[in-house]
Amino acid sequence: MNTVTARERRLGIMGGTFDPVHFGHLVAAEGARYSFSLEKVIFIPAGNPPHKPDHIITEPSIRYKMTCLAVASNPSFCASDLEVERPGPSFTIDTVRYMMRLHPNERIFFITGADALIEISTWKNFEVLLSICNFVAATRPGYRLLELKEKLDPLPDSLKQNISYMEVPALAISSTDIRQRVREGRPIKYLLPESVEDYIIQNNLYRQ
Ligand code: ATP
Ligand code: MG
Repeated sequence: MNTVTARERRLGIMGGTFDPVHFGHLVAAEGARYSFSLEKVIFIPAGNPPHKPDHIITEPSIRYKMTCLAVASNPSFCASDLEVERPGPSFTIDTVRYMMRLHPNERIFFITGADALIEISTWKNFEVLLSICNFVAATRPGYRLLELKEKLDPLPDSLKQNISYMEVPALAISSTDIRQRVREGRPIKYLLPESVEDYIIQNNLYRQ
């Protein structure tokens, strides 16, 4: 699966709420770009995440703006406002299908953290999703890959073969922690790109 044929082109998609985007996201995406020979990784902030109805999420255009700032320094990264502009809940299956139509000659690798993939059976049409694109699960502190593999074991081999596991440097960084730090006046420096930190401060985000 990790062998690249001469003409195969590979595209990575990094989905997330990115409220805000941080170095954990960037390290996972860069690790996947390198390990799976991806030409490009597109960061797609979710417009209206179906899995997070329990807390108030920052306006999509602001999360998209921060994502653009974060990817600017990596020529292999870009951000898309596809989900931000689409009304209704953001389902990964719709995004992947859209990307497949837009990039018919590229194989799609959807990059997630281990915590996100462990929930995959709750995603809309997850079996179809696993059959049409590859998944890369990055290690994340607090989530054991072994536990994830056990959880996914009942899936048919035809679907499991499309899931790869990737070790990335462990960064115990989360958007939840960053939001809480800002609220409490604690530092967020070195947890996310400086441009995003400046944007958060200038726009008074996460203060309450
Ligand atoms: P929140 O705390 O609000 O849930 P988060 O830090 O988990 O935010 P998300 O936007 O939910 O960030 O995550 C987007 C994707 O990035 C998910 O697949 C998640 O598993 C992955 N991810 C987030 N942080 C890390 C990290 N530190 N290391 C590896 N993967 C991560
Ligand atoms: Mg999360």
